[in-house]
Amino acid sequence: MSEYDLRSFGWAPGGYTGRKCVDCLETLWMVDKRAWRCQPCALKRYEEHAKVIDAPMICDYDEQTGRIG
Ligand SMILES: [Zn+2]
Repeated sequence: MSEYDLRSFGWAPGGYTGRKCVDCLETLWMVDKRAWRCQPCALKRYEEHAKVIDAPMICDYDEQTGRIG
């Protein structure tokens, strides 16, 4: 997982502050000017997406931590 992966889910580092995350409505700090989610929310979306893509392969997805393996 890289910053590039989170970029497509709404978060990337940058120099912009003040916009709000569309999911949790927290103020975004030092994000890319096109960011629309905070890092935790983008990561959550990324993991949900990865879960869907990898679903047939998963046998040990942890519901509590949201982590695989
Ligand atoms: Zn958020």
